[in-house]
Amino acid sequence: MAVTDTAKLKQVKFNLEGLDCAACAAKIEYALHKQGFDDAAVNFAAKSVLLNPLNLGAAQAVIREVDPQVTLIREENQYKAEQKIDWQLILIGAAAFLFIAGLILSRAAKPSPLPGSLAFMAAFLLVGAKVIRRALHNISRGQVFDENFLMTVAGVGAMIIGQQPEAASVMLFYAVGEYLENLAVHRSRRTIKSLLAVRPDYANLSLAGEIRRVQPEEVPVGSLIVIRPGEKVPLDGVVLEGSSFLDTSVLTGESVPRKAEPGDVVLAGMVNGGGLLTIKVSKSFADSSVAKILDLVENAAARKAPTEQFITRFARYYTPAVVLTALGIALIPPLIMPGAAFKPWIYRALILLVISCPCALVISVPLGYFAGIGGASRRGILVKGANFFEVLADLDTVVLDKTGTLTRGVFEVSKVESVKGFSTEDVLKLAALAEMHSSHPIAKAVLAAGAEYIKAERVQEYLEIPGQGVKAVAEGKTILAGSKGLLQGVHIPAEITAGQETGVYVAVDGALAGYIAVTDRLKPDAAEAVQRLKSLGINQVAILSGDSEAVTARVAREVGVDSYYSGLLPEGKVAALEELQARAGGAKARLAFVGDGINDAPVISRADVGIAMGGLGSDAAIEAADVVIMDDLVSKLGTAVELARSTRRIVQQNIVFALGIKAVFIGFGAFGLATMWEAVFADVGVTVLAVLNSARAMRL
Ligand code: ADP
Ligand code: MG
Repeated sequence: MAVTDTAKLKQVKFNLEGLDCAACAAKIEYALHKQGFDDAAVNFAAKSVLLNPLNLGAAQAVIREVDPQVTLIREENQYKAEQKIDWQLILIGAAAFLFIAGLILSRAAKPSPLPGSLAFMAAFLLVGAKVIRRALHNISRGQVFDENFLMTVAGVGAMIIGQQPEAASVMLFYAVGEYLENLAVHRSRRTIKSLLAVRPDYANLSLAGEIRRVQPEEVPVGSLIVIRPGEKVPLDGVVLEGSSFLDTSVLTGESVPRKAEPGDVVLAGMVNGGGLLTIKVSKSFADSSVAKILDLVENAAARKAPTEQFITRFARYYTPAVVLTALGIALIPPLIMPGAAFKPWIYRALILLVISCPCALVISVPLGYFAGIGGASRRGILVKGANFFEVLADLDTVVLDKTGTLTRGVFEVSKVESVKGFSTEDVLKLAALAEMHSSHPIAKAVLAAGAEYIKAERVQEYLEIPGQGVKAVAEGKTILAGSKGLLQGVHIPAEITAGQETGVYVAVDGALAGYIAVTDRLKPDAAEAVQRLKSLGINQVAILSGDSEAVTARVAREVGVDSYYSGLLPEGKVAALEELQARAGGAKARLAFVGDGINDAPVISRADVGIAMGGLGSDAAIEAADVVIMDDLVSKLGTAVELARSTRRIVQQNIVFALGIKAVFIGFGAFGLATMWEAVFADVGVTVLAVLNSARAMRL
């Protein structure tokens, strides 16, 4: 079966150039859903949308309908769009200058108030034109109620009843709020991008029997590349040799792995399972577009936190309600109360409109999470979605993989033992040939010790059995290298033991040849990391390992976890995780799994939040993970939990603060106690403060 099936291609990310208001983002998403782009997800903070790329024209038409300023563009053209930010600043600067000039002129307005009024008017138009245009456009589409409408009615209304300075300031501060928001988003994106660059993609180029690791850009079409177990396919191509199962979920959304055999097409971005594949590259890196567009973080940042989703829905009902109330205030009292004039009541209604604009919420909540993601990036922690912050903040159980997570994953060969009929050289040579294509940390130690024996052309078949070891056919012999369980699984008795060290048991054509003992050291921060998790109130910390009981027990004791499970195969890890989850108790109790290997990928997906080590980790684990620790430090787990908690706190602060201040000022306004100046503070002032508060999440 061919693995290309473009009709099933999942969402692809595009940038939304010109998107500059959070509420427009929600509207675009809503409109896309209505037009059949069922899973379209707009991410305002990243200014991007996830779309099925098959009908781009239609998608652009829908987006134009909502906001003619917004254009769908591919990632590559993004750089230019980001430069626009400074134009906005110039505009704001000019408007601020005119505003101040207006204040001075109107104070000294002895002969005529006209120059002052003109200055205010100019300032108003300079920053307000865009808002008014957006509002008019939306009205023409029948989408009347939004914050552009609120600001336009309030601003134009204030102008008409002669409150020019107020009108100008409403628009000016609104623009400042938007500008700050853009700035924060821009910063956050930059740190995320630079973090992503830490782990460059590579391709294993096969040239004259030799395999070299090169950048995917350098690989010409028609070359042969080797894809090892657990690696991500770097370029599109056709399988020449080998067979394997590929995880295509990044591209198709389907989690069932697909078989790939000679003749099948594989696409960049898919993750290789247990087999070794040699493919002939069919497209250059630039054309293996899927891989490029699939941007790890920004794709996933579209996963919104529950709070964020709530705010979007809230704004949709809130705004029309406010407009109706304001209309009531403007019309009813003058009509029914004897002696009441229109002007003061219209003024009160305008004040209410300004006060109750939901900008502070719709802007600061998504921004808070995005800034949190940016702040985490600065510390080398890649968080793939705002929703994971809420999980991290509520963690109850942390389950750790042993090798590569708690230990350094850098093994050294400490001993080689052979049984009768084999020499220790035989054992080392056989193991080195078998392990040649494995990226497991143990394999690296074996390869380092047996480097002299390695020749690619001697290995005919290769299969990695996650969590157990490898099987290879080399020089006509079938070699098994791995845990004792691997040998016992095919009924090869292994009486010898590596004791407290990890053993790579080697068998040839069904008979034991010997073992290689390898040792690994704890990461220097392992014990401290476990301690820190406990002091953060995490209830259970456990280890799951595929390694032997003796080794696992020693590590468990040394780092001080509550419990451990050893000798687990990948399925066993999932079962153990579920057991721990049941024990965690409480519907709110969340569980994290932290791992690095191919065999950890299923558990990483299964956990409420899956965390992978980005340096040592296999691509399979990194793709499956929700959070990636780029520098492999386990103690970053504590940092991630703290960041998640403080990000959530900031978002909650903003909600309470914005709604609180608004409630107070709406109260004042209703009794006629608030002026337009206070209204400006209650809305745009609060927005600016909330945006600044959100930006704090970057710096925590
Ligand atoms: P952990 O779960 O502790 O991170 P793994 O699941 O990666 O460890 O591996 C479990 C056990 O399987 C290892 O201790 C080792 O005995 C064996 N194993 C896995 N892969 C290999 C390999 N490539 N070579 C040798 N042994 C391996
Ligand atoms: Mg591991």
